[in-house]
Amino acid sequence: MKIALTFDIERDLPNVLDTYFGVEIGLLKILDILDNFNVKGTFFCTGNVVEHLPEYIRLIEQKGHEIACHGLYHERLNQLDFIKCQDIIYQNKKVLEETCQNSEIIGFRAPYLKPPKFLFEILSNLGFRYDSSIGSPKKLSHYQRDSNKIQEFHPSKYSIYLRLPYPFLKRKIFKTDLLILYFHPYEAINMKNLIRKHASKFETVKNILFRLDRWLHTGDTFLETLRGFIVESLVKKWEFITLRQLIA
Ligand SMILES: [Zn+2]
Repeated sequence: MKIALTFDIERDLPNVLDTYFGVEIGLLKILDILDNFNVKGTFFCTGNVVEHLPEYIRLIEQKGHEIACHGLYHERLNQLDFIKCQDIIYQNKKVLEETCQNSEIIGFRAPYLKPPKFLFEILSNLGFRYDSSIGSPKKLSHYQRDSNKIQEFHPSKYSIYLRLPYPFLKRKIFKTDLLILYFHPYEAINMKNLIRKHASKFETVKNILFRLDRWLHTGDTFLETLRGFIVESLVKKWEFITLRQLIA
């Protein structure tokens, strides 16, 4: 089996928090783990993090990981028109190319995994080679495609299960030949504390009570899970790859 570890580099819980602890603290811990096992990942970066913390994005590049695009401010692109979307993705790519001058940017992932119908046309116009936004292969046909120059790498909608302590859920993850897991740097931070400290009262109550997925087993538990998963995969001789490596 081939496994792509992918990370969406954005501020902590877009639309709930406006902090960057995930990038400033969590990202470094994730990079250390990947370094320890010489595993390379794919990092989808929002333009605002690139502008706000360029040295962190350059560090990802220096360590040999793949850099790719994830919007400017983590917009809901499926609610915007073609021109606006294209402009956002263009700006995102431009700021990444200026910051990471040794990287060719060919990959895109839509924020919230909510691509607009016309995404592939935009990606093609802007010189991208692949997308990784569409969770289900069945939905692929809903998206307009130019004559298939853009390849789709479906992110596993079960990624979150890896963090949860239920083996019966985890088994679902592995029913594939190509596993594309996606994580966020803020998962390496204790999100329960962060939400309590920095979110509004309304968001705190809502997220702690009803969005366990946003904080359960984050922080050190997540890091241990990631490390354990890599160890287990290497023992099984599974291969870690970046998405760029899958482009023929
Ligand atoms: Zn995201």
